Amino acid sequence: MRTNFHTHTYRCNHAIGEEKDYVLEAIEKNLDILGFSDHGPFKDEVFDPRMPFSDLDDYLFKIEELKNAYKDKICIKSGLEMEFFPEKSKQYEELLTKHNVEYLVLGQHFFRDNNAFIDTYILDDTSHYLKYAELAIEGMKTGYFKFLAHPDVVFVNNFKWDKNCDKFCDLIINAALKHNLILEYNANGVRKGKRKFCDGTRFAYPDERFWQKVAKEDIKVIINSDCHSPEYIWDSYMDKSFEMAKDLNLNLIYNIF
Ligand SMILES: [Zn+2]
Ligand SMILES: [Zn+2]
Repeated sequence: MRTNFHTHTYRCNHAIGEEKDYVLEAIEKNLDILGFSDHGPFKDEVFDPRMPFSDLDDYLFKIEELKNAYKDKICIKSGLEMEFFPEKSKQYEELLTKHNVEYLVLGQHFFRDNNAFIDTYILDDTSHYLKYAELAIEGMKTGYFKFLAHPDVVFVNNFKWDKNCDKFCDLIINAALKHNLILEYNANGVRKGKRKFCDGTRFAYPDERFWQKVAKEDIKVIINSDCHSPEYIWDSYMDKSFEMAKDLNLNLIYNIF
């Protein structure tokens, strides 16, 4: 079974391609299920670059239209990738019930620490990994989200592995076990290639050290493309991600529903 549940569109302003371009490419690459998960908008706060809230209905309408038009060729699901902030709980509920979004993906690209707004890609030190984990875990508990996207994204930061890193992995892994939440092995990290870090040349994510720990536990793992262009729906980096995940002996699943 071939699936991808992490797909962006031009609407987020940092990806290219319309919904239909992604559907045609997914059919071309023989996908059984294509899930759209563009960066979702909040009503009361604008993260840039993101889909504006005013685009949400059109996005969902387009997906519904394509779902019907191509139902004999591919199964299409509507989703959104979002950060978790406890004060926005009602908005996630509305998305799932009022707007009938079929799934939400937890992608904690930003978080708050006291009142500071923090970019997960630019952290001061490894103690901040634990702050990211704290909020991500709060989100994992809610039941709003089907999977945690690139759970190991903090390793994009250039710090040596230390006891906070081990603690970080344990926190996320234990939460995934406790709440039976799927973790995503993100092919976009593989696509971005290896880079030089102070602890060696490696992918920013997926970080092998994290996934070796995941492999020891009974945790469901989904591989997604996280494509920001239709041509990346199923490229050689998806195949490479499958190879790497199989070498790690991860418990791969292919459907989040
Ligand atoms: Zn993006
Ligand atoms: Zn994404």
